Formats: sequence, structure tokens, C-alpha cells
Amino acid sequence: MKKLLFLLLVAFLVIQPNPITSRATESARAATSNTVQFQLPSCSYNAAMPGAGYQILPQPAPVTFRQQQLFDWFSPWAIARNPILQNMRFPILVLAGERNARAGAFGIAINPQWFAELDEDITIGIYAHELGHVSQAYGLIPVDQLAQRYGAEGQADYFAGTLLKASRQFSPAQMQKLIDWVTPSVGDQSHAPGSVRADLMRAGYNNTP
Ligand SMILES: [Zn+2]
Repeated sequence: MKKLLFLLLVAFLVIQPNPITSRATESARAATSNTVQFQLPSCSYNAAMPGAGYQILPQPAPVTFRQQQLFDWFSPWAIARNPILQNMRFPILVLAGERNARAGAFGIAINPQWFAELDEDITIGIYAHELGHVSQAYGLIPVDQLAQRYGAEGQADYFAGTLLKASRQFSPAQMQKLIDWVTPSVGDQSHAPGSVRADLMRAGYNNTP
């Protein structure tokens, strides 16, 4: 089943329009596809209910204008650090079976029903965290001391703060809203308690000029 899902996803990626660039070529994709590590971190938030199983459906999730603005800022930032990314597809897909978001080299998958219930600022904060996982998958951010201490999830939280600040699209008040939302979440095997996650997001935001 997982293999079938993966093949479906690959088939879908080949026919999707490319939000990062329209200059994708078959040869470039072929050249890069062997070097990309696919990973599906299981993100967790205070509203997330662990699903018995999840599926990433081969259909695009709705993206709002403000959410798209974050992706539009991220794409040139990412391409500047790894030019091969201008040939990569980067879809936002539908995640079914759990109120959650997942990300990796394939792109991002979110549960649209869950996102519809959330404040738009919170969804942008979640996307910033998921873009951290995309950046990890593409080697845009190194395995640094922060990653060693807090793991991939902690590094993605810190990265979310840096991205939201650097993009100039997230005010301190919006950042506080995100922090207030994540703080009550309970930690699990891969996630620190919400208070630590909030500290990491805040530090990323405050440490970015
Ligand atoms: Zn995560």
C-alpha cells in the first residue's frame, strides 16, 4: 500500500504544475530524482489527533493568498541555496486520516478540514514549520547543534521563527498568536513540550534581523 501510494505520488508530481518554477525539464528531474531523500516527519500540534493511519492524496490542497505569499518568499530563498530546486516540483497536497501536516522532499501535505478550522496566521506558522522539513530534506539547513539537541522537529520550529521574521510577513503580534497556540501542546517521542517549542519559535524570530 505504501509503495502504491508512493508511485501515485510520483505520478502526480510529474503532472503537477510547478509552483517553484515553470522551467522544469524532464532531464533535470531525472538527474535530481535519484539524489533526493524522501522523508515524512510526523508533525504534531496541540489540535492534532494522531490518526490510525494517514494518506497523502494526489490532489492539491487549497492555498490562500497569504499562505502563497510565504511560499513565494521561500522559493527564491531555497533556490539561491540549492539551484537544483528550480527544477523541482513542490506541491501542497491533501493529507487525509489525521488532523496534521507532513512535509519532506515531496512537498507538503496538510489536512484541509483541520486547516479550515484554524486561524490563518496559525496555518502560516504551520507552513513555516513544514518548510523547515522541506529545507532539511533538501539540505538547505545543516544538522547543527540545535538539531542535535532538539531533533528535526525542534530545528523546524526554530526555522519557522526565522522564516516568518525574514519574510517580513508576520508581525510580532502574529508571532505571539502562534506561540500562544503551540504552548499548551503536549510533547511526544519526537516533539518537545509546547513551551519548549514556543521558545524555539520565538528564538528563531527574535534572532533574525
Ligand atoms: Zn514537524
